[in-house]
This record gives sequence, C-alpha cells and structure tokens, in this order.
Amino acid sequence: MSKLSIVVPCFNEEEALPFFYEESQKAIAGLIEKKLIDSAEYVFVDDGSKDKTVEILRQLAEKDKNVHFVSFSRNFGKEAAIYAGLNKTCGDYVATLDADLQDPPSLIGEMLEAIQNEDYDCAATRRVDRKGEPPIRSFFARMFYKIMRKLCNIEVVDGARDFRVMTRVYVNAVLSLSEKNRFSKGIFPWVGFKTKWFEYENRERVAGETKWSFHKLFLYSIDGITAFSVKPLMLSSILGIFSLIIAFLMIILIIVRKMIWGDPVAGWPSMVCIIVFIGGLQLFSVGILGQYLAKIYTETKDRPLYIVREEV
Ligand code: UDP
Ligand code: MG
Repeated sequence: MSKLSIVVPCFNEEEALPFFYEESQKAIAGLIEKKLIDSAEYVFVDDGSKDKTVEILRQLAEKDKNVHFVSFSRNFGKEAAIYAGLNKTCGDYVATLDADLQDPPSLIGEMLEAIQNEDYDCAATRRVDRKGEPPIRSFFARMFYKIMRKLCNIEVVDGARDFRVMTRVYVNAVLSLSEKNRFSKGIFPWVGFKTKWFEYENRERVAGETKWSFHKLFLYSIDGITAFSVKPLMLSSILGIFSLIIAFLMIILIIVRKMIWGDPVAGWPSMVCIIVFIGGLQLFSVGILGQYLAKIYTETKDRPLYIVREEV
C-alpha cells in the first residue's frame, strides 16, 4: 500500500487551478493504473491569495475528499508554503509542483519509477533552457548559480525547479531543518541522499503571471547566499588586509619621494579619494555583517514560518 501526496503552493492562481486539477487527476489515474501507487492526496497551500483561489480550493475539497488545503492569513512566500504543505502530508511519497502547469504532472510517473526501482530517494527536475525569459535575467541567474557554488559547499544545480518527488525519509529530513530563513535550493542538496535529475524544456505558464519580479529575485539570491555560506564574512577581512597593504606601500612611496626628491605631498584630492575608498570598503563590510546579523535576529525571534487562517 503506498500513497502519494501532492503539495501545491498557490498564490493568486484562480485561473490556473482548474487546469492543474484536471491534469493531475489524469496523471494520478495513470499512476494507479500502472500500480505505482494505490492512492493520492492533494495538499494545496493558499499563500494569502487576493483572488478567488480559496473559494476554488473549497469547492475542490467539497467535491473530492482527497483534496486538503491550508490557507495562510497573508502572503508568507513560496518557501513557507512548501514547508507548510510538506508538514501536512502523510503519503509514502511526496511530490511538490507549481499550480501553473510549468511542472508537468505527467512526469511524476517516471520520477516515481526512478525512486521505486532504481533506489533513489528523490527525483528532481531542472530546466535545460531559459526560453521566454529576458536575457538579462538569464545572465544574472547564471551568475548567481556560479557564485553560489563557489561560496557554499553544496551542489546547487542551475535551473533546478521546485518540482520534486521524494520519499518519506527524505521529506522528514527536509522538515527537520526548521530554520526560519528557508532557502530550499540549498536545503534540498544539503540534506544529501541520492537524487536523480530529470530535464525538461521550459514552458510558458498555462494562465496568470509570474509572481517573481527581478527585485524579488535579487533579494532572494542574497538571502540564499547568506543562508548557506559564511564566506562573505571572510571577504571583508580580505578586503581590509588588501587595502592595508596598499596604504602601507603608498606611505613608503610618499616618504621616499619626500626624502630623495623633496617633492611636496600633493594636497587634498588624493586625500578625498582615499577617504571615500576606505569609507566605501567599510560600509560594504558592515553591510555584509548586517546581513548575518539580520539572519540571527529573525532566527532568535523564533516567529512561526506561517499563520493558518483556514484548514480543510
Ligand atoms: N507562489 C507562492 N507564493 C508566492 C509566490 C509564488 O505560493 O509568494 C507559488 C505560485 O502560486 C506558483 C509557484 O509558487 O504555484 C511558482 O510561482 P511562479 O509561477 O510565479 O514562479 P515561476 O514559475 O515564474 O518561477
Ligand atoms: Mg511558474
């Protein structure tokens, strides 16, 4: 007897949800037919949607007893939504997918087979291209993955999506990381286990618009780096030592010049440059420190990751 739980974070997805449910029902029927699972349940998480998402979820739950949902009191973000969803699942296998059908439910079968027959603990997906995305965005995304891999000693995969199928053991491991600053692109590789990667081409969302602005993604990437690496802290020391050496060389140069040629020391433009340079370095370093301080601050406040308004 094995059961599949499907976790779906939803933020203003009234247009996409009916399509999603229909597609998933088809996929589940196929899985049961192939005897990969005996039953399935849905855990939808409404992340404080402003549209009719909750009403649609209520209707689905009334019609289908395998549909459960949690509705947040406000928008807490996708990370919180996925965490809440995983927390409510009880299946032997858990799948996480987006509501917009950019993650094809039809792929779950292959992913489950990899777990059941090939001894994997997790089947994950990545997209191989970035079609339909502004080039600047792709460029920054690539840079981010490069920096992330350099700074953190975890294998963060380029283009990895949140579409995964996992075993219960794996899910429990992910849930055991109860940190408040959740960065799942880092958390999943951090817990380890054997992961099989599936690749597919990027596809347009079926309805609605992406919830990620460039600004939101940028802040998210800084969050991710500081959540998984303390190397930026070292950067300030390195910059400090570096500028110290330069300053020392410059002092020697000035003394030598004065003693040998009797050059007068040039006035305040050079001074202003140095002050601005050192000031910039200091502010930059304090900023890095601040990032970590902010993380410690939010962790010690120990606020819940999300607040539930309604649960079915
Ligand atoms: N989402 C969410 N909370 C948010 C933003 C997004 O639960 O604050 C959900 C959204 O409903 C969707 C998934 O996360 O199911 C992915 O969002 P989106 O499609 O906007 O991101 P993209 O696919 O463009 O990366
Ligand atoms: Mg999407």
